[in-house]
Amino acid sequence: MAKKTIASVDVAGKKVLVRVDFNVPLDENGKITDDRRIRMALPTIKSVLERGGKLILMSHLGRPKDAPDPKFTLKPAAERLAELLPGTKVEFATDTVGEDAVAKVAALTDGSVVVLENLRFQPGEKKGLEDFAAKLASFADVYVNDAFGTCHRTDASMVAVPKLMEGKPRVCGFLVEKEIKYLTDAISNPQRPFVAILGGAKVSDKIMVIKNLLGICDKVLIGGAMAYTFSLATGGKVGKSLVEPDKVDLAKELIAEGGDKLVLPVDVHCGDAFSADCNKVVVASGQIPDDYEGLDIGPETSKKYAEIVKDAKTVVWNGPMGVSEMPPFDAGTRAVADAIAGSGAISIIGGGDSAAAIQKLGYADKVSHVSTGGGASLEMLEGKKFVAVELLDEA
Ligand code: AMP
Repeated sequence: MAKKTIASVDVAGKKVLVRVDFNVPLDENGKITDDRRIRMALPTIKSVLERGGKLILMSHLGRPKDAPDPKFTLKPAAERLAELLPGTKVEFATDTVGEDAVAKVAALTDGSVVVLENLRFQPGEKKGLEDFAAKLASFADVYVNDAFGTCHRTDASMVAVPKLMEGKPRVCGFLVEKEIKYLTDAISNPQRPFVAILGGAKVSDKIMVIKNLLGICDKVLIGGAMAYTFSLATGGKVGKSLVEPDKVDLAKELIAEGGDKLVLPVDVHCGDAFSADCNKVVVASGQIPDDYEGLDIGPETSKKYAEIVKDAKTVVWNGPMGVSEMPPFDAGTRAVADAIAGSGAISIIGGGDSAAAIQKLGYADKVSHVSTGGGASLEMLEGKKFVAVELLDEA
């Protein structure tokens, strides 16, 4: 069901509390090394400011231990936001719900911003406590969730705050709107053929995703180290490859359940060590020599997967096909990225490594959606419902 967005709320003169994801990477001097997460929130932020709203931004950053820790201050994020919004007054509150926050929220004028200090400096955030949430809720007339990367969590700012604001508008921001559109709507009513490509290190991380997608996709292509656990399940030889022997029974189940839908690699690019300059050999799947490990899908598999992707109308991709950070074992991942970018399909990319491969190859504009949330996007692909999203107003 579609959720109301901030576009439909009259924000003029109103205090608008937006949960953003400003969890940006910082170097040892506290400098932001990648401001993408801040920039991704700009459409929502600008929409409120341009319509005369008073904006209160809250976020977590890193993993402080439920107490203030200068290493994890949101001040650099507030400063970066000010640079991105020339001409806008951007204040930073040195606490989250304390005296400074209260004073700065009270002093907000139309079209200005206050960024609250890191939510996780307060023990109430991770624990979802009501008394902490009540202080945040008291700040505003409107609640907005634009923190997709945290949507699978039940932290106070995600659940208790909007619950306490019942009766006031509680809507999603444009980033969350887009994530939901692609990760649930496009998938629940897909244009077919609908192909999923799943890779990465462990089958255990993606069991529920594979199960759910086998129920709705026409094909589920498997790559990455998880393919070797499937190989074990069919009696193959996997040499020194990364495998999860305790997941072999489960892999057998998925193979039985998936039938023709589940497509496994036909060949493997192996090395005799986990390094770029190791001795290399390409073998058929299930025939990895004892002193070798599988490090990528082989060329035949790349070709086969590219052919399948070429005809797809909807593609979901999560997880690299091999050790994509170590050429030449990035070839399979690149082949899949090439095929998706050239397919013209509705394409949804999730997971750090697959998203990185798409960016690195310059394909970001050739895919429909690169998800911003690792854990959250996997859980959406599992078909899970998020409380933090469910409780927002219906459109
Ligand atoms: P994930 O976080 O589960 O998406 O897995 C990503 C990681 O899986 C990357 O760091 C890859 O290097 C790793 N990976 C993919 N294929 C292999 C492989 N065949 N052997 C070892 N690691 C792999």
